[in-house]
Amino acid sequence: MKTVVDKVGSRFEWMSRDEITEFQGAALRTSVARAARSPHYSAKFDELGIDPNDIRLTKDITRLPFTTKEDLRLSYPDKMLTVDREQVVRLHTSSGTTGKPTAIMHTQQDIDCWAELMARCLAMTGATSQDVFQNMSGYGMFTGGLGLHYGAERLGMLVIPAGPGQTARQIMLIRDFGVTCIHSTPSYFMHVAEKMIQDGDDPKPLGIERAFCGAEPYTEELRAKLQDLYGCRVYNSYGLSEMMGPGVAFECTYQDGMHVWEDAYLVEIIDPETLEPVKEGAVGELVMTTLRREAMPIIRYRTRDLTSILGGECRCGRKHARMARFVGRSDDMLIVGGVNVFPSQIEEVIMRNDWLGGNYVIQLAKQGALDKMTVKVEIAQAVFDGSLDNIRTKRDELANQVKDQVGFTVNVEVVEPGSLPASEGKAKRVMDER
Ligand code: ADP
Ligand code: ZN
Repeated sequence: MKTVVDKVGSRFEWMSRDEITEFQGAALRTSVARAARSPHYSAKFDELGIDPNDIRLTKDITRLPFTTKEDLRLSYPDKMLTVDREQVVRLHTSSGTTGKPTAIMHTQQDIDCWAELMARCLAMTGATSQDVFQNMSGYGMFTGGLGLHYGAERLGMLVIPAGPGQTARQIMLIRDFGVTCIHSTPSYFMHVAEKMIQDGDDPKPLGIERAFCGAEPYTEELRAKLQDLYGCRVYNSYGLSEMMGPGVAFECTYQDGMHVWEDAYLVEIIDPETLEPVKEGAVGELVMTTLRREAMPIIRYRTRDLTSILGGECRCGRKHARMARFVGRSDDMLIVGGVNVFPSQIEEVIMRNDWLGGNYVIQLAKQGALDKMTVKVEIAQAVFDGSLDNIRTKRDELANQVKDQVGFTVNVEVVEPGSLPASEGKAKRVMDER
């Protein structure tokens, strides 16, 4: 694997812990000094009486203010920019899942760095220039398209920029060009498999070896189901537009947490209430500082994504820290009748039942003064015989499993295959009508 990584040309991949720490200290000093040139951070540092020269070591990071999505919105379009407009070669925005999108600008060096990080991610899964890669992510402003695209080209893969949707065409391209690697949201990748099964086809003989799935939370159980349906390995991929996009953290062949590239990002996990660091290994909000970014360095960005840092060393030998599968965003947490629930808890139960398909939604409504939660889930195509009459017992068992998981009674409905809205990008699982 090392030779492939060398092809990507990065000196950062196999750094020791000491080298990482030393590099981070120097990169942080540069990043903070650079950020201070932007109208946003220069005003912020003035206001808080911060002298960028006082930031020497990575531990000094806690003296700096957090940056929130709101800061990015307020500094829209370019108050965080540190270079002349002329040096900017690309603009991306976030998907706007939780409101007005934010805009991030890049210099050529930023784009090159992004491609390098992305290529390192792909190589880490064992992908090489021999692979044929179909990118089912949206191109355009959404970073999943161009982000993966440039990284895969950098690795020398044959890239098919399919974009999302048009499922029949996706399947045709996979077959006709012998696609071995896929990038997709897990929900859309599931949809493609189910579409095939519905048409009496089988996803396994497609010969896909690796799928890079991310952009939305998903459970270990959903991964297992996808791996089983396709007979391939599914690698978790994490990124966000504010930190470039995909390429921030990725699983290696051991599929045991995602390595976050610490030469490019300084990582903290904080308690979102107290804003203090959590105990080692505890779950909290991921906070990231860019270390190699030129056009728009961002300091202590509160991602609102919840994860933890895994202890111990990865068997692959890389020393870059590993993050656990994301629980979700802090704003994904549902409060139902005073009880906290994450959609992923429901997903876990659903995916453990192999008589169910991969698509589900969670509906929340008021019944009088009370919150009412309904889970609608499709039955698996292979099990469906044209009627839902004979699955009542199974459905009741499922309702009990959900109740055991969340601690209160949930209305569970099992519906026909293909009857719930299919996603092409990020799935919308929760409909809150309260
Ligand atoms: P938006 O915040 O508008 O969705 P992005 O398209 O930049 O904008 O999406 C980034 C977000 O997607 C992350 O902050 C995170 O919430 C989610 N995400 C990305 N990858 C993963 C993953 N592997 N697991 C869980 N959530 C993810
Ligand atoms: Zn590893």
